[in-house]
Amino acid sequence: MKSAPFEHHEPDTVDEAVSLLESLDDPTILAGGQSLVPMLRFRLANPDVVVDINGIDSLDYLREEDGSLRLGALARHADVEDSDLIDGEYGSFADAAPLVADPQIRNRGTVVGSVAQADPKGDWGSILLAHEGEVIATGPDGDRAIPADEFFLLPYDTTLGEQELITEIRVPAPGPNEGSAYHKLKRKTGDYAMAGVGARLVFDDGVIESAGIGMTAVDITNARATDAEEHLEGERPSPDLFAKAGELAAEQSNPESDEHGGADYKERMVDVLAQRALSDAAERAGTVTVERRVTQ
Ligand SMILES: Cc1cc2nc3c(=O)[nH]c(=O)nc-3n(C[C@H](O)[C@H](O)[C@H](O)COP(=O)(O)OP(=O)(O)OC[C@H]3O[C@@H](n4cnc5c(N)ncnc54)[C@H](O)[C@@H]3O)c2cc1C
Repeated sequence: MKSAPFEHHEPDTVDEAVSLLESLDDPTILAGGQSLVPMLRFRLANPDVVVDINGIDSLDYLREEDGSLRLGALARHADVEDSDLIDGEYGSFADAAPLVADPQIRNRGTVVGSVAQADPKGDWGSILLAHEGEVIATGPDGDRAIPADEFFLLPYDTTLGEQELITEIRVPAPGPNEGSAYHKLKRKTGDYAMAGVGARLVFDDGVIESAGIGMTAVDITNARATDAEEHLEGERPSPDLFAKAGELAAEQSNPESDEHGGADYKERMVDVLAQRALSDAAERAGTVTVERRVTQ
């Protein structure tokens, strides 16, 4: 099926895009098109006006600046996959990028588009939550930083304003005693997650000073495992500690049964994936190797 006709605008600058979002009636932003175009073709989305941001070169970046990793709205999944900066410093991003969809989708789809889409099965939202990142929304009143915790409301619904676009997502650059990881269970290449867990651990003298855990596909939005985070903070890593954290994450998850697996199975997978992610994060922080208790 072909999409219904729509008006197509191609701004060259963020200012131009914001003016269009302000002046046009109910416009839809187009980035990589990997979620939007299928929805247009199946007529699940029928916008009259599309604002295509692919010509805004200033949004095409992935860099560290002022103590943060910053991904502009045109950074593609493949840019993350190919980045030496990511490979060396950002374990969770490096783990997740090659697991998103398939190479064709990764070449066009953007990380920011995935966050904007707010699909609870999307991987990047969980990583943003685990890293306590921010979404930078730009609108007629300028830029505002939305903490990841306040961004996701419901499936496909966020706190982004109607006249705003996301220009950037950012996460704090890791300190020397920090590590992160992402583990995902999917049936085959190209599939979304059945379950996924991102973890970030910051250590101070061998003790976990701060923990962030984000979960994929096991609630109505990407969700934080706050009970597990609290259990970890102030403790030294051990198999028992991570086993309890996995259990708490699973308890806090809220998966639904579907054709890929029952809710009980997915909860068990959250437990397993959380322990794996925590164990890798601790190892990457350079502090300890924590033996894994569970096998799949
Ligand atoms: C078969 C298939 C498998 C997939 N598997 C995975 C997976 O395993 N993991 C995963 O995370 N994702 C997966 N995806 C989704 C993929 O990552 C998309 O690329 C992503 O969700 C959307 O990014 P995009 O740049 O293509 O956005 P688009 O499709 O262009 O836009 C998606 C939505 O976001 C809005 N939007 C886009 N950019 C902005 C912006 N800068 N500001 C405000 N709103 C914006 C659009 O208006 C639209 O509503 C899959 C998609 C498909 C088709």
